[in-house]
Amino acid sequence: MQTVPTQAMIGGEWRSADDGCRFDVRDPATGHVIASVSDCGEAETRVAISAADQALVGWSAMPAAGRAAILRRWADLMIERADVLARILTRENGKPLGEARGEVLYGASYLHWFSEEAMRAYGDVIPAPGSDRRIIVTKTPVGVCAAITPWNFPNAMLMRKAAAALAAGCTLVAKPAAETPLSALMAAEIGIEAGLPAGVFNVVPGKDAAAIGEALTSSEIVRKLSFTGSTGVGRKLIAQCAPSVKRVSMELGGNAPFIVFEDADLDAALDGLMASKFRNSGQTCVCANRIYVNDSVMEEFASRLTDRVAALHVGAGDQARTEIGPLISEAAFAKVERLVSDALARGGRVRTGGAKHPAGNLFYRPTVIEGVTPDMDVMREEIFGPVAPLAVFASEAEVIKLANDTEHGLAAYVYTRDLGRAWRVGDALAYGMVGINEGVLSSAAAPFGGVKQSGFGREGSRYGLDDYLEIKYMLMGGLSA
Ligand code: ADP
Repeated sequence: MQTVPTQAMIGGEWRSADDGCRFDVRDPATGHVIASVSDCGEAETRVAISAADQALVGWSAMPAAGRAAILRRWADLMIERADVLARILTRENGKPLGEARGEVLYGASYLHWFSEEAMRAYGDVIPAPGSDRRIIVTKTPVGVCAAITPWNFPNAMLMRKAAAALAAGCTLVAKPAAETPLSALMAAEIGIEAGLPAGVFNVVPGKDAAAIGEALTSSEIVRKLSFTGSTGVGRKLIAQCAPSVKRVSMELGGNAPFIVFEDADLDAALDGLMASKFRNSGQTCVCANRIYVNDSVMEEFASRLTDRVAALHVGAGDQARTEIGPLISEAAFAKVERLVSDALARGGRVRTGGAKHPAGNLFYRPTVIEGVTPDMDVMREEIFGPVAPLAVFASEAEVIKLANDTEHGLAAYVYTRDLGRAWRVGDALAYGMVGINEGVLSSAAAPFGGVKQSGFGREGSRYGLDDYLEIKYMLMGGLSA
């Protein structure tokens, strides 16, 4: 395997943990150790915060065009090395190589996007109540920011935070998931090569997430935390940020409804569902989680879906034909098994899959379950696995009610050829993002984020920069002759 940095990136230098401790990173396809990474904690995080603080003055004062040029170079180098980065990503996360490569390009697209947005952090001049005065609004960087990212998109979840933060003139301390620190460390290496000044982008890997999280949230220097992960951890981090009144962006869990009306183009709906449900083995927060199909088309839809799902090729991500890789951990595998047995115990029926796959310990067969009802755990919890639960509905009003009956509100999908219905249902869904006749929503140009307990803040698009900017108002007086 390509040489990969395994120490923390702090203040422009690779540093071991103070006590020299390291932790193992494993390939989920084989269980083999692929790297041993510096196990940092509270002390190293404090040093990283201080490095980010020292770098802040220079970075925020650099003209936006200068920051933009570095971000663009960073993206270009990532794209040049996409194959190498993808191989590392597949080794630590398990996803198929093609998906890993797609993720690297997607991560780089945020750097490109925000390199341009950096130039457009416009302010405003507003007529004041008196004609001898002007109200002037400028946008200033929030300051030192922290990012805590998950294992399901080890490159892209970090790059979309880093790109916006750095474009705005903030500096960053990032804590990647312990399962997948290598992509973040590779990104840091390439960032330094692209010209990031020391301390602007720091990466602190470690197994003790709570200790690193505590150091980041309790710091008075850190002015903002951006988190992507589970709702449970998100709630905790919001509370931890309260004493120092930090700004927070939270991209938390989802429980996405995928609605197929009787007038839908079923070919398109099947394509959309396969892309939405089975990408990353079903381990994304925008994966279709509850699939509602109108009763008049259910049998045709279920039967065609079952054929497609049964044909999916399961295996290690680096094998050419693989479409479904392993789950990330034993805990993830156990959760999928629990959700499936609960559904079967309550009357659900397996059409395909429903068991472990022989490819290895963490491989689960792509599964379709029909006869699913709202009381089942599979409909109430985020599945995070290759399991498609099918439930029937009769009317538009009924399915809207079912779809909104959750604490979550990240992504929803609707398939219909009726334009009026598309708008009505799209408007009625209490979600931050709605895909209408589309199963893949995210792009650097679009605002990604949720409502309700799926969080707040938006990543990507022109709105994404606002998460890292303060609005500053100055009143200029004495203008009368
Ligand atoms: P998942 O269940 O998908 O792993 P988590 O919310 O547990 O989601 O993890 C997302 C990120 O949050 C990871 O980087 C993880 O290490 C980190 N994390 C988990 N618990 C805490 C915590 N108590 N404080 C700070 N970070 C945490």
